[in-house]
Amino acid sequence: MGQPSNLLLKLSRQLFTEKRDRDAFVEALSAPQPFPTALVWLQPRPEPLPFAIAPPLPWQPAWVDRLSGDQRPGQHPLHQAGAYYCLDTASVFSASVFSAIKDRPERASSPPLTSVLDFCAAPGGKSLLAWKALAPDHLWCNEVIRKRVKILIANLKRCGLTEALVFNLDPQIWAERLPRTAAVVVVDAPCSGQSLLAKGDRALGCFHPVTIKKNASRQKRILASAAQTVVEGGYLAYMTCTFSPEENEQVVAWLLKKFPQFEAIAVPILANYASALAAFPCYRLWPQSGLGAGSFTALLHNRADAPKSLPTPIDFDFLTAQGMAIYRSTPPL
Ligand code: SAM
Repeated sequence: MGQPSNLLLKLSRQLFTEKRDRDAFVEALSAPQPFPTALVWLQPRPEPLPFAIAPPLPWQPAWVDRLSGDQRPGQHPLHQAGAYYCLDTASVFSASVFSAIKDRPERASSPPLTSVLDFCAAPGGKSLLAWKALAPDHLWCNEVIRKRVKILIANLKRCGLTEALVFNLDPQIWAERLPRTAAVVVVDAPCSGQSLLAKGDRALGCFHPVTIKKNASRQKRILASAAQTVVEGGYLAYMTCTFSPEENEQVVAWLLKKFPQFEAIAVPILANYASALAAFPCYRLWPQSGLGAGSFTALLHNRADAPKSLPTPIDFDFLTAQGMAIYRSTPPL
């Protein structure tokens, strides 16, 4: 293990007041440890399970297992058969904000959860988590980088998502041409990727102020489009896999100021993970937790009155004719 960079040390001082927390954070990023993989089950679990599993966490959905030790679920025939999708537990953590959508008492008066739009979807982990957690009538998966669409479609197909539509649009196009269309918009934003270091991956320049600033600007651009795409009474979930407050709490604070109809809402099952860096509810999983590489997540509610009539559903054929929709997993009935 080399010496931690000055920029990493600076970030640790920005994040933590206690020296022991700073040291643990720097250690987790400088000397990566393996994290157990999580499985999202898309088919019923076989009995007996072909993997040894770790005890469930309080925020772990019933349809997720965390494996114990070093196992290779990606090479098991059940994986190829689409029985499960493998991801970092930090992704499951971020997607836990969906639980607060289901549990909301005022849900009865909110728009029906007909549509979920994943704005930054490839390779598809959050789309699958949203699908399992929210069971929407429509799942729209958007990926702006054309060459990443292939892996997204392959994963949706393998996992048997029979209703998903895939788009290859800039978020701004959604905002301009399809405003107020989705009950839930998920923005798992491109970011500086600092948590990659905790997994032993490279993330060149991830602590550099220019990288962080560039990412924060892009995140704000995406979120501004996302905010316009959420129907009144709907939700916007924002998440990253990086640690800089400039890309996390500060981006959400910017959104709340620019779009005052949005309110950050509490996610009860994540209460123990509340960020100390914001006055509004938002949550962080740290790499030193040993659970996953780390992430940030927040759930925003559009408090504007729900419309009397629901927005016009997306017309797939119309969009296809315009070259906007590129994949439908099943033909229309
Ligand atoms: N949600 C995915 C999952 O769980 O599997 C991971 C998403 S990854 C963190 C961020 C995604 O944002 C990448 O697929 C990237 O191609 C996409 N992206 C990059 N620039 C973007 C932009 N300007 N607008 C929207 N998405 C962008």
